[in-house]
Amino acid sequence: MTSTLSPAPAVGFDVAAKQFKQLIGGDLVDGAATVPVVDPGSGEHVASAPVASPAQLDLAVAAAGRAQPAWEALGYAERGRYLHAVADVLAEHHEALAQLTTLEQGKPITQARDDVSWSIDFTRYYADYRLDPEVLRDDEGGYVELRRRPVGVVGAITPWNFPLFQAVYKLAPALIVGNTMVLKPSPTTPLATMYFAELIKDVLPGGVFNVIGDGGDVGPLLTAHAGVNKISFTGSTVTGRYVMAACAPTLKRVTLELGGNDPAIVLEDADIEKTAEGLCTWAFANAGQVCVSIKRIYAPAAIYDDLIDAMVKRTAELTVGHGLDPASDVGPLQNKVQFEKAREALAIAAEHGTVVTGGSALDRPGYFIEPTLVRDIVEDNPLICEETFAPIRSVIAYDDLDDAIRRANNSEYGLGASVWATDIEQATEVAGRLDSGTTWINHHFQLTPDVPFGGVKQSGLGAEFGRTGVEEFTDVHVVNIKHL
Ligand code: NAD
Repeated sequence: MTSTLSPAPAVGFDVAAKQFKQLIGGDLVDGAATVPVVDPGSGEHVASAPVASPAQLDLAVAAAGRAQPAWEALGYAERGRYLHAVADVLAEHHEALAQLTTLEQGKPITQARDDVSWSIDFTRYYADYRLDPEVLRDDEGGYVELRRRPVGVVGAITPWNFPLFQAVYKLAPALIVGNTMVLKPSPTTPLATMYFAELIKDVLPGGVFNVIGDGGDVGPLLTAHAGVNKISFTGSTVTGRYVMAACAPTLKRVTLELGGNDPAIVLEDADIEKTAEGLCTWAFANAGQVCVSIKRIYAPAAIYDDLIDAMVKRTAELTVGHGLDPASDVGPLQNKVQFEKAREALAIAAEHGTVVTGGSALDRPGYFIEPTLVRDIVEDNPLICEETFAPIRSVIAYDDLDDAIRRANNSEYGLGASVWATDIEQATEVAGRLDSGTTWINHHFQLTPDVPFGGVKQSGLGAEFGRTGVEEFTDVHVVNIKHL
């Protein structure tokens, strides 16, 4: 089913007329140039965003460096109060931020509202977070304490699939432990991040949070900048390699959250209807543009046809349309490059497998691809081997579970995975054999601030969230006392 509406966003201001600004040292500033921002649901230009000059990047890094000692000196309680105030602003402007997210990113408005709600929850969680010193030894010989110090200035780089949420979930843990930040959003989705920065301009002390705009060349300048102590990067594996190399000369700390090609393994005792529902939800959310989307589904031959029938039924019920139309379940792809890649993937699907539902780009303005399921596909092709960032998913039959696990692990990626079954003991045993940072059982893609999330193999380095993730924004400092 498709929807035809292309509604105007209800943000409380005229987006086209608004001057989006960078936040540098507590001031809202224009860029040295601008970059056009397109609504992927219409293909039309909706706003212009500022782009930082190298000199402005220097100013932002210098401002973050100047602000950091005083911010650190405030201590946890005071920094937490500031972060709760940030969460209050997010809550107050919840709908406008959601509408802007949909306008620039394309996702259905209900999913954009979730992005803002998660942003609030994560901010409040980290506002109350503490990394207290840990006593490692306390005996007659002496006393040894492990403390966690902020790294200093964090450079944050975000992609375009959850722009506001990603900005906030980097900001809150970095700030609570005493760092300051310079954040660079993706050139195609800067609006919600810049509007958020404008809203909290007077909430945080000047320089604590800086947002600079990018036309496509600013990322390497930020990663190489000598005034930045750590890079927190989310994006593709290809770019992650450049980021890691750029961090090497100054030995910056680096966290990389990269691509994924998540397998879902269905076991023979799985509840077909519930499993089909879960698989479709996490295959097609955000039009398949999620690092931890379910991208490959391995199903036993005994239930292969029934599972596919149940998935086809659910997929056919999804309404594709502009994200601001409340009837839409699946929005457009975020940009033209992804749209063209998705069209290539559809051609591969038709050539190497059998398309059982979907299979086409929509004949309307914007970057819409029908949710597509493919069966009986040979595995040695890019649709299976590479990350498909589009609503095109393959269901692959297996006869032997050990072989299915081997095929699921046969990937350079290792971000998420899931196992779908009734016998949780067997599912847990299978989960333990999958090469992934997270393996969910009977669900997929649950991110919460208390649980670490990261990839193995070429899906990343380090983790975000949980104590592990917060510690990545710190350096270890040991105080070792010898009793006299
Ligand atoms: P991308 O790697 O093209 O861009 C990500 C960000 O890096 C953008 O802000 C971009 O401007 C910037 N960038 C580009 N080149 C750079 C360079 N040389 N140095 C520094 N920065 C540079 O990724 P994308 O297309 O925006 O996002 C999609 C990818 O992100 C997918 O692979 C997806 O799986 C991944 N992703 C991963 C996670 C995760 O948590 N693991 C989450 C979301 C998205």
